Amino acid sequence: MVKPAGGECNLSCAYCYYLAKTHLYPHSRFRMDEALLEDFTRQYIAAQRVPEVTFAWQGGEPLLMGLPFYERALALQRRYRPAGMRIANALQTNGTLLDAAWCRFLRQHDFLIGLSLDGPRELHDAYRRDRAGRPTFERVMAGLAALHEHGVAFNILATVHAANAEHPLEVYRFLRDEAGARFIQFIPIVERSTGNGGTDAAVSSRSVRPAQYGRFLTAIFDEWVRRDVGEVFVQTFDMALVLEHNGDLYACDHFVEPRYRLGNIAQTPLVELVGSAQQRAFGEAKRAALPQQCRSCAVLFACHGGCPKDRFLRTADGEAGLQYLCEGYRAFFTHVDHPMRLMAAELRQGRHARNVILRLAEEDAERSQRWARAERNAPCPCGSGRKFKHCHGRIGRMRGAEGTDAAI
Ligand code: SF4
Ligand code: SF4
Repeated sequence: MVKPAGGECNLSCAYCYYLAKTHLYPHSRFRMDEALLEDFTRQYIAAQRVPEVTFAWQGGEPLLMGLPFYERALALQRRYRPAGMRIANALQTNGTLLDAAWCRFLRQHDFLIGLSLDGPRELHDAYRRDRAGRPTFERVMAGLAALHEHGVAFNILATVHAANAEHPLEVYRFLRDEAGARFIQFIPIVERSTGNGGTDAAVSSRSVRPAQYGRFLTAIFDEWVRRDVGEVFVQTFDMALVLEHNGDLYACDHFVEPRYRLGNIAQTPLVELVGSAQQRAFGEAKRAALPQQCRSCAVLFACHGGCPKDRFLRTADGEAGLQYLCEGYRAFFTHVDHPMRLMAAELRQGRHARNVILRLAEEDAERSQRWARAERNAPCPCGSGRKFKHCHGRIGRMRGAEGTDAAI
């Protein structure tokens, strides 16, 4: 990732941690100069051992650099690119500066844009405000319209926080249907009240709660897996499936899509796919620091113990290093296990993952029939071990009595 404007941004989102980084460089004007850009481009390309290289431009707000900066960056990429190497560019933006000129340039040079959008107007504007405290939804949507108009490829990056976490389907359907997103990434907002160093597990009021995050992902997954598989890509869902079933490795977990796939560890040794010894050491440290509760956890393969920055809880045994969102991750990855296995089985048979929609529809229909046939005193078909009349049969009667939904 390159941050040519450092942490500088034209917005001032309430949960932003980049803005604070500007204090690390009190005398900087936060603009990467030409000499550094050239040096970086040359070194970065020379360090690669893979045939496709991605420059990931990030901020703060990287569009603050202006168009000429990126024209220069592309010229330098062309100058230092050895024959046979493909160079891709990805850029993460808040979208408020996107206009026709930017979008023509981005389309022409095949940039992949990551756009920050937290959901419909009220949910987005809850924390994403400019420096004057004004809402930004209108400006982001204008930027998004320009991306669409010029055919620029984009992903949506949505943060999950106290304001939108209880509205999973509203957020997902808005991003899918109104924003037209095909690639979506959800990022949990976890802000520690005491900063990063202490042992206090308190988090800010803006932070998503662990169980709430699990419910958020689960609700979206249930809609996605019954209608959108193969058409909408949600990074968290892809990672759970990808790592389990076929060993594909992606350049960056922000951009899990075919274009950014580095390769497959079955065809190329993993060591040739990753960039550097430091990256390997980071990955190994991430695993080595896991508490016993994670090491013996059934969903470790998908969760990996979560982001190290959020491992500030203690396990039931008092061991340090448990992920703050553990409860949510465990609930979510457990919930998706069965559909994910169905999907992986389809892929192993050389069929499309989207077939899972049919498999689940068959299962749902079969389950409805079992419920419809269930005797009052027979065991409940849900497998609870209780009599039907004391379990789902009772719920069905209650719903019927309320006049809402008598069918289970
Ligand atoms: S747009 Fe991004 S960098 Fe700018 S204030 Fe918001 S979160 Fe921070
Ligand atoms: S779900 Fe919890 S226990 Fe399991 S790997 Fe993730 S953080 Fe660790």
